[in-house]
Amino acid sequence: MRNVSHFIGGQTAAWSGARTGDIYDPTIGQVQAQVALGTVETVAEAVANAKAAQPEWGATNPQRRARVMFKFKALIEAHMDELAALLASEHGKVISDAKGDIQRGLDVVEFACGIPHLLKGDYTEGAGPGIDVYSMRQPLGVVAGITPFNFPAMIPLWMLAPAIACGNAFILKPSERDPSVPVRLAELALEAGLPAGILNVVHGDKLVVDAILDHPDVKAVSFVGSSDIAQYVYGRGAAAGKRMQCMGGAKNHGIIMPDADIDQAVADILGAAYGSAGERCMALPVVVPVGEKTAEVLREKLVAEIAKLRIGISTDADAHYGPVVSAQHKARIEGYIQMAVDEGSELVLDGRGFMLQGYEDGYFLAPTLLDHVRPDMQSYKEEIFGPVLQILRAATFEEAVSYPTQHQYGNGVAIFTRNGDFARNFASSVEVGMVGINVPIPVPVSYHSFGGWKRSGFGDLNQYGTDGIRFYTRTKTITQRWPSGGSVIDQSFIIPTM
Ligand code: NAD
Repeated sequence: MRNVSHFIGGQTAAWSGARTGDIYDPTIGQVQAQVALGTVETVAEAVANAKAAQPEWGATNPQRRARVMFKFKALIEAHMDELAALLASEHGKVISDAKGDIQRGLDVVEFACGIPHLLKGDYTEGAGPGIDVYSMRQPLGVVAGITPFNFPAMIPLWMLAPAIACGNAFILKPSERDPSVPVRLAELALEAGLPAGILNVVHGDKLVVDAILDHPDVKAVSFVGSSDIAQYVYGRGAAAGKRMQCMGGAKNHGIIMPDADIDQAVADILGAAYGSAGERCMALPVVVPVGEKTAEVLREKLVAEIAKLRIGISTDADAHYGPVVSAQHKARIEGYIQMAVDEGSELVLDGRGFMLQGYEDGYFLAPTLLDHVRPDMQSYKEEIFGPVLQILRAATFEEAVSYPTQHQYGNGVAIFTRNGDFARNFASSVEVGMVGINVPIPVPVSYHSFGGWKRSGFGDLNQYGTDGIRFYTRTKTITQRWPSGGSVIDQSFIIPTM
């Protein structure tokens, strides 16, 4: 059986076999590999390597660091097919979607290629008599990222590309459920010319996460995962004095106005609700049609289009989505469907009990559609993270906007309308971090920044874009004067004023 080991100091760590985890193939429901689960000592070793390597890398001029990023980008592109196949085999998403996962991470590598420009500071000539002020952004040193299972390429790249380009050394703790692609990315970065020790991968569970949060030499931690753990990681890391950004779960709403292009909206909702088996933090698992007529038309069209969806294995080029990640997660989703029924939702389409011929032990679920969902239902309040779409009917625009605004999560939201006034009002007032206007999955492009509100995000600075550069650097501001000699300048005992 294949073993996936840590990657520390530019080398694959020896396989100790002491603490290990199973990596499943969700298509067949069987263990396909083992992953090493690190210890406090593994984290200490990785941090020591990173700390030793970082000063030279941080002092390398940004243009040379950018050249490594350019090569890294080219290598990821050259290995796209291999990476996508490996990603799909552990996650279960279809190959085309796995390539999208890698591409959205590559976009951030491309952004990081511009690091010489991004690191330029500010300068004020003559801020006072003979006084100039300038600022510079310097790397933090050793930083870390902890990532979820659902985007095993994109989310590690969101973090490690800007962190490394800024001159830091990085410790990646990927999800233990699909850890192989993160290791391949670290190997490719080394091949691209990144010095050994600048990018380390330590696998593990809570024990390793805690060791990262407690290590005094780790200066900042970026986390993406579920909200309770995000909040825990945020609190523990911040209490230890680290800079933290922790992204959590989601329950994104799609508002359907009566004037929307309903066929286009239905096509968009299908992909956003069921794509990647609903295992996306920017999925759209709740639709809010405004008005009974809109609700009836929407429901009828959804039912017709859902019937055409094909569930399949990742290599099935015609499949729309594959299995969910694990048996436990499948059971959890089924539990939520039952809960929704018990709470009084109408089960329009039941995805439970679906079996893919030849893959009867795979973790497949057909699409589920629930109607007449109410905001007080627990199955609405919580994140299901599966191929389940809930219809929450609203009478008015104001009522529709109140649902995402009042929800505990505030990651993404979308409105489908032809009316610019509604759209503008919506974008301005809704309490959610990322808004789509006739765009179902409004994940910002790499030169903007990604981040949700409320329980979807703890901390201030968002992922990637200029926020990412700020997160992985600290500002130093210099006030300088070059005395020209002659008479001594009178030193004042009051705070200097200009
Ligand atoms: P998860 O919270 O179970 O795991 C995330 C990371 O935390 C993993 O690396 C895991 O090993 C680690 N971890 C797990 N339990 C821990 C514990 N008790 N203490 C410390 N660390 C622990 O999340 P997941 O199931 O891998 O991913 C799905 C979740 O991530 C969903 O809630 C989804 O919405 C969220 N997500 C959010 C975003 C975003 O940007 N907001 C993006 C993708 C996924």
